[in-house]
Amino acid sequence: MFYRSTRDSSLAVTSAQAIAQGISVEGGLFLPSEIPQITEETLRGLADMSYAERADVVLGKFLTDFTPEELHHCTASAYSTANFEISDIAGLTKAFGNAQILELWHGPTCAFKDMALQILPYLLTTSLKKTGEQKNVVILVATSGDTGKAALEGFRDVPGTQIMVFYPEHGVSSMQKRQMATQEGGNVCVCAVEGNFDDCQNGVKKIFTDPAVREKLSAGGMMFSSANSINWGRLAPQIVYYVSAYAEMAKRGDIRFGETVNVVVPTGNFGNILAAYYAKNMGVPFGKLICASNVNKVLTDFISTGVYDRNRDFFATCSPSMDILISSNLERLLWLLTDGDDAQIRDWFGKLSKDGRYEVSPAVMARLQKDFAAGYCDDAQTKETIRRFHDEYGYTLDTHTAVAVKVYYDHLNQTGDTTRTLIASTASPFKFSPSVLEAVTGKVPQGEEYDMVATLSECSGMPVPPSLAALKEKPVRFSGVIRKEEMEQFVLSQLGITE
Ligand SMILES: *Cc1c(COP(=O)(O)O)cnc(C)c1O
Repeated sequence: MFYRSTRDSSLAVTSAQAIAQGISVEGGLFLPSEIPQITEETLRGLADMSYAERADVVLGKFLTDFTPEELHHCTASAYSTANFEISDIAGLTKAFGNAQILELWHGPTCAFKDMALQILPYLLTTSLKKTGEQKNVVILVATSGDTGKAALEGFRDVPGTQIMVFYPEHGVSSMQKRQMATQEGGNVCVCAVEGNFDDCQNGVKKIFTDPAVREKLSAGGMMFSSANSINWGRLAPQIVYYVSAYAEMAKRGDIRFGETVNVVVPTGNFGNILAAYYAKNMGVPFGKLICASNVNKVLTDFISTGVYDRNRDFFATCSPSMDILISSNLERLLWLLTDGDDAQIRDWFGKLSKDGRYEVSPAVMARLQKDFAAGYCDDAQTKETIRRFHDEYGYTLDTHTAVAVKVYYDHLNQTGDTTRTLIASTASPFKFSPSVLEAVTGKVPQGEEYDMVATLSECSGMPVPPSLAALKEKPVRFSGVIRKEEMEQFVLSQLGITE
């Protein structure tokens, strides 16, 4: 299997090269030349395996240039109980009506990003070895809150790597900020940017694809890579938990093998839901993939009208990790839906960067709507959903998962579609304690954040995740704020490149 670029379909590189590089030189995203298939027999076989073994099977189909030993070293190192607080690494809740929640946040940073960022450093260092790359790798990360911390934890003190994280100064929760500002490790650097997530992501993409910057790095024995979901090494591990969840539901008798399951995903950069699309196209019997947004609903509008238009107000919501207007991974989906028409992709994404807008054809729309549905909700509805779920089921949702749950109920009410549904739960409620507590109690909580964390623990009956509790005593190491125009200079000076 080879990897192509969305903006140059004639490229053919190995998965190791795609992962090492992160993004293609002309700015396109790497993706596999074909989608491997998984049979029902293989799915049945997965049911009796550990999570790491399931990852071996699924990743083995995509990373075909990795030996089974190399791959198992990566999966076993990442998916161990040393890194995840429970052995059920991607655990399912009981059913709430026809819906079940897939808890993806039991890793070290309490968000689903750990599912991929615990393994990415192993995949990347293995890829560098395989490609014979001698340079030190500089990982640049733009984060809407959760990727940054997960990447910092994954890469801290990994030999041969340095990591720099940029986050929107006013665009993350206070716990997310605290997690990043107190990060330990000798190869890490964190900086806030005056702007929103899109500014951070654009800045990072620009630095990546600037030939002059790349040359300066190369002269210094360094190269860039990415830990954002533009890197295929982030996407592939996310496919695993969808395949795994299906096998698990069947094993538990929640569904029969072969039964259709819908999937709802709270979406920002479109990475997580794209992983579900890959799982579906591998042959996992998924039905509708339901894209859930907050009021930054550029994806809801796109899926219902075919017009992608980022020229709109940007809102800071109580689900900040989804406050995004430019969803990178949509580019991969559109490449798939146009059967790899790279000229068309260049045209659309050229328009997006020039005019902030593009429109797809009715044929592409038809293919899009066959698999995807979409909905959104505002902060009041998000909080109302947290309260209702807490009161009715005694289960406490975080603000992002609550968006997905609300959109699920809207879909159910509008369509009467009672298909068994998997809802991806992307973060621990403790990362957003003030909002969750306000939702549950109906009052804006006052006082110190750690008092709110303690109160939330009492009223949810959930223990405070040890990694979040530990932050209370940790000193702040990073408090810098820069303008978005200064990102490139910041990176170069951090790396000791002056001229
Ligand atoms: C990153 C994130 C999302 C959005 O995921 P995408 O892959 O960017 O669509 C949703 N919820 C939480 C908690 C996140 O951290």
